[in-house]
Order: sequence, then C-alpha cells, then structure tokens
Amino acid sequence: MDATFILLGTGAGPGLPSFFCDCAGCREARDNPALARTRSGAFIDTGNSKLLIDASPDLRHQLIRESITRVDGIFMTHWHYDHFGGLGELEYYIKLARNEAIPIYLPPSAVEQFTAAFPNLTEAFAVKSWQFARQYRVDSLGITPLPANHGIETAGFLLETAGTKLAYYPDTAGLPAVSAGKVNGVDWLICDATFHGDNWFPQAHMSLEQAVDLGRQIGAKNTVLTHLAVHYSRPATSRQLAEEAAAYENVCVAYDGMRIKL
Ligand SMILES: [Zn+2]
Ligand SMILES: [Zn+2]
Ligand SMILES: [Zn+2]
Repeated sequence: MDATFILLGTGAGPGLPSFFCDCAGCREARDNPALARTRSGAFIDTGNSKLLIDASPDLRHQLIRESITRVDGIFMTHWHYDHFGGLGELEYYIKLARNEAIPIYLPPSAVEQFTAAFPNLTEAFAVKSWQFARQYRVDSLGITPLPANHGIETAGFLLETAGTKLAYYPDTAGLPAVSAGKVNGVDWLICDATFHGDNWFPQAHMSLEQAVDLGRQIGAKNTVLTHLAVHYSRPATSRQLAEEAAAYENVCVAYDGMRIKL
C-alpha cells in the first residue's frame, strides 16, 4: 500500500503572515489565506499507521485542515518551540478519544526538556529517545534519524519505502558528511530554505540558493524548499519565490498541504 507524506506546515518560526510584520509576503498572505504558511511539520499515512513529524504550535489547525483524526506516533526533529509547541494540543485527543499514551520519539538531549515543558502530560506520552542512524520500521516504512547542523541536537528523517526515498530536513545548515552519504540520490529532498537573500544564521539555516545547492550536491531528484521565512532578509511574495525556484531544474517551493506519494 502506498504511503502518503503531507507537509502540514512550511513556514519558519514567525509563520506567514507573522502578526508583527507587514512585508509584501505577509500582506499577500493576509489577503489570500491560501498563501499563508503555518509552522513546519509533516504527517505520514502508511495506509495503516498515522505519524507526525514534529508538532508545531499550529498543529490543531493543521490537523483540522487536512481532516486528520488519528495520530499513532510522533517523531521529533529537535526541541525548538516552532517544532514542539503543539504537543499540548494532543492532550484531549489522548484522554478523550485515544485512551492510551502516544509513543513520542525525542532527541536524547530533549527528554528532560520535554518533562520540564509538559509536567502534566508525562502520562499522555510514552517517551522514547531516538538514536541517530538507527532505522525504525512502521509497517513497510523505514524512518531513520540522521544528524543535521542546527546548533542543538537535531535530526532530519530519511523515509524509505520499497520504491521511494524522501529526506526531510526542516532545520539544517548544509548536511554533516555522515548524513549526506546516506541521503545521496534521494527521490525527494525537502529542506530548510529559511532565508531569502542574506542568511542571518548560516550555522543553523540555509538560504534559498544554499538549499538548491545542497539538492544538487547530494543528487536529489527533486528538491522542495520549506521552513520559509519570506520576510528575511529580502521580503518575497509567493510569485517571486515560485519564479526563483523555477529558474532551477527539479526545484519547487513547498506549500501547506503539499502531498507526496511514497
Ligand atoms: Zn512579513
Ligand atoms: Zn530549529
Ligand atoms: Zn524551525
């Protein structure tokens, strides 16, 4: 059975529109909410199991928008608010509908932070820590956390089915050699393209051009640009972003709700 990968959110930390910004991209997203970008996260439906990658502060809206009514497990890339802030949204689902704890796979260094952030939810989640380079199997899907360059312990996830490989790296500045080797030649690279123009955090994120370069370096068949903060450093509209991406072969800009068959 085919698995489906859904991008729940494709924005960086401030989201689009950002409540405190009035750039061209934010104005456009206020006028046309279809162009808005919620904070980054993804959902995988194996046909049997339903998995979240990260739980953004916009999680409730994302699940409603995509008519998702079940979550069986969660894999977390890292412990930054724009990726974990929505975990609390699952409390009532777990207590009123699921009636058992949800397995959550955290970076080893984030286990204590999880407990500190959600002291009342420790029974709602079955906390486990993932290990880099270990493959987790869910039905016929392989999920492997691989190191990213993001300042704190952070994974990208390599998803593998019989026919397709997809690497999801929402927050990274290039890739460590160990990861680049493992994702070489993937069908889909979905990666951090936070900055448009100058990269203000070159140790933690990429610009649009750097993301395109990374796709080329690893020989990705398709590169999808995500975790976009279109306000910085050169504000961009969705049309400008699409035009810039179209100048490169097999590169596109992600959007909320984008689906990829695995
Ligand atoms: Zn803006
Ligand atoms: Zn981050
Ligand atoms: Zn982020």
